[in-house]
Amino acid sequence: MIQRKRLFCCIAFFGLCVLSGFSQTKTFRVLAFYSTNVEQDHVDFAVQAISFFQAAAERDHFTFKATTNWNDLNSTTLKDYQVVLWLNEFPSTQAQRKAFADYMEHGGAWMGFHVAGWMESRETWPWFAGFLGAMFCGNSWPPMPATLIVDDQDHPATRGLPKSFVSPDNEWYSWQPSPRNNPNIKVLITLAPSNYPLGFKDTLSGGDVPVTWTNKKYKMIYTNMGHGAKILNDETQNRFFENALLWLGGRD
Ligand code: ZN
Repeated sequence: MIQRKRLFCCIAFFGLCVLSGFSQTKTFRVLAFYSTNVEQDHVDFAVQAISFFQAAAERDHFTFKATTNWNDLNSTTLKDYQVVLWLNEFPSTQAQRKAFADYMEHGGAWMGFHVAGWMESRETWPWFAGFLGAMFCGNSWPPMPATLIVDDQDHPATRGLPKSFVSPDNEWYSWQPSPRNNPNIKVLITLAPSNYPLGFKDTLSGGDVPVTWTNKKYKMIYTNMGHGAKILNDETQNRFFENALLWLGGRD
């Protein structure tokens, strides 16, 4: 009887080990969209981001694929992926936009960088304007580092980050209306007031400028970093990119 009990305990213990190992390595598939015929600084970022996320995929056991074919924003392709990234552009056809909106409305996850959040006007794509929860208003130039405030150190994407850190050279965007005023939006990172005036040719002169946020109605993160070849030079910021992706992939 004692032996049977021991055997049962062993089996239960082994089962727990397998289960906990399985949940830690629960895999997911990421499809990153980018373009090579856009602003060179945006191409440079995408190229670096692809190797960064490829290395993260090895470390964290998920599958990562990058494509320049935005027509892969279709329901057949998207059903094989749990997370979509837009590294340096956005969809340009109605079919791509509709497939993406359907994907997000049915449990897909997205992370958009920098120009992914840019839009000429709300009328260009009203669904996306609501999804992003903000409209591009202005930018800083030239690219410069900025001190960022981590608004929420408890969100899985920003957990473990210091209250403040210096983000490498980037072109920074401002927003009108600000995502802060949208009840569906949770701002995670903001430009610190100490940065102002930020830029020379184009200047952000002050005010509340959110940098990173999530729309709580979706599994999404928008982050304004993504201009130039220095973005991935900061360990703290890189930790945020990796944590954000793991959260989107379901690894809280
Ligand atoms: Zn830019």
